[in-house]
Amino acid sequence: MDLEDKTPLIKVRNLKKRFKIKSNWLQAVNTLNFDIYKGETLGLVGESGCGKSTTGRCVLRFYEDNLTGEVFYNDKDIFKFSKSELKNLRKDMQLIFQDPYASLNGRMTIKNIIEEPLLIHNMYTKNKREEKINELLNLVGLKEEHKNRYPHEFSGGQRQRICIARALIIQPKFVVCDEPIASLDVSIQSQIVNLLKDLQYRFKYTYLFIAHDLSMVKYISDRILVMYLGNMIELADSIELNNNPKHPYTRALLSAVPIPDPEYKRSERIIEGEIPNPMNPPSGCVFRTRCNEVMDICSQRLPVWKEIDKKHFVACHLYN
Ligand code: SF4
Repeated sequence: MDLEDKTPLIKVRNLKKRFKIKSNWLQAVNTLNFDIYKGETLGLVGESGCGKSTTGRCVLRFYEDNLTGEVFYNDKDIFKFSKSELKNLRKDMQLIFQDPYASLNGRMTIKNIIEEPLLIHNMYTKNKREEKINELLNLVGLKEEHKNRYPHEFSGGQRQRICIARALIIQPKFVVCDEPIASLDVSIQSQIVNLLKDLQYRFKYTYLFIAHDLSMVKYISDRILVMYLGNMIELADSIELNNNPKHPYTRALLSAVPIPDPEYKRSERIIEGEIPNPMNPPSGCVFRTRCNEVMDICSQRLPVWKEIDKKHFVACHLYN
């Protein structure tokens, strides 16, 4: 996707979110600044606990407290929206959850689950809703006769298809896909990713695709943003990031992606140690306690977010 002539659908500026845990503060996301262009997929990757899902929920304005910065949707700051404006916004922005087992109400039929968003937003007549549900079931690869069944009658992959149908029935513009394949078998993961890509091609959706490993993210994403301990550390076009990763953490993540070629040999970079306690992050560069290229300056100063190549940004003292 050529981003030169694209306009941002989402603009995130100086976004910070903290959680209070007993008497301590956890800085879940720290000074995030990025755009998501109309029709693109921005992949968001990092280990568990790096703030990816919190970022997705902040962008959807699911939080109210201890949230600062701005999120613009079509150039309007959604943090300033009233309740009624927010309700309208929910029509344009949807979330696909990680766990298709927990996110479907086991006592509702598939029809009722998919119909619920239409009822909340008062959309269409009864007959038209029925027509829309049938259409969506076909689009996500399920059958009309499935609609009177219950979630427990379906496999994990089918349940995720139901979740996708529920999110897309109201024709949103922007969808946060929060690790939608993490709990599925590898063989099913590619089917779900292909389905999301196909639906995006047909309906021009804009995605924020969250995942903890790069293998599928690089396949679906136009650009990839890498996070570590609540901070942005690298952002680039997907092909550029995969061929030319700059940050030591991104290089380590990429070296862990399996390559389906038994002849291929590469030197794997193991990330040593545990993620530091986010309530007591390291001084300077937050990755310095695990970085195999650490220098004296890394504990003294926060690396600056810098464009080091065309549309390729990184925060690392190796490039300052
Ligand atoms: Fe490693 Fe220093 Fe770069 Fe951080 S700033 S990633 S510690 S080299």
